Amino acid sequence: MYGKGIIKGLGVTLKRFTDTYLDDISWWMQGKKRYYTKEGVEHRSSKDARGIFTVQYPEEQLIAPEEFRYEPFLLYDEGPEGERNIRCTSCGICAKVCPPQCIWIMRTSDPETGKPIPEPKEFYIDMDLCMNCGLCAEYCPFDAIKMDHDFELASYHRNVYDLEMLLKPTSYYAEIRPTNYNREEEERKAKEAAKAAKAAAPRPSAATN
Ligand code: SF4
Ligand code: SF4
Repeated sequence: MYGKGIIKGLGVTLKRFTDTYLDDISWWMQGKKRYYTKEGVEHRSSKDARGIFTVQYPEEQLIAPEEFRYEPFLLYDEGPEGERNIRCTSCGICAKVCPPQCIWIMRTSDPETGKPIPEPKEFYIDMDLCMNCGLCAEYCPFDAIKMDHDFELASYHRNVYDLEMLLKPTSYYAEIRPTNYNREEEERKAKEAAKAAKAAAPRPSAATN
């Protein structure tokens, strides 16, 4: 029948419209808030949402899946005295693999000997050039750079992030990417245990004639 598709489409819209109010009433009767709450946003983003599934951005935001990636950030481990142990060794691999070449790193050097110290003195990422590919995080051998979920970068100035702006604690990383964090921690602990076992193992005696 001519126009059947349009009628069907309008029917879907009408069903969503009425289901929205039915959902609202059901949540209200359970004493739960369907709007402006994490629980409500989670429900509306799920396959169980019958009525409205949009969110009131920016007051509400969709909950990013763990593998969602936006701009990169640098990790530091929190020491017992609250000190920041920056993981980056300024090896430069991330800058090398970055397709648009938007990473700049300056290595720290010993003021007396001039020898390089494996930590960054300066670290910049031009977020306006970054294409969010995640290669820097993929290639970093020290798990020192990761991809963030934060996507709200709009500003009136050029978004060049320096070391201070890039640094975030591992606890933040564990919060946004728990599966990745736990897997990496297990791998790191296994490596450390293997290293300790190797160091503790008796040395093979020198070959006799
Ligand atoms: S973030 Fe990783 S790859 Fe980049 S310089 Fe630091 S240690 Fe090297
Ligand atoms: S995410 Fe990609 S483009 Fe952005 S800094 Fe890392 S490697 Fe470069």
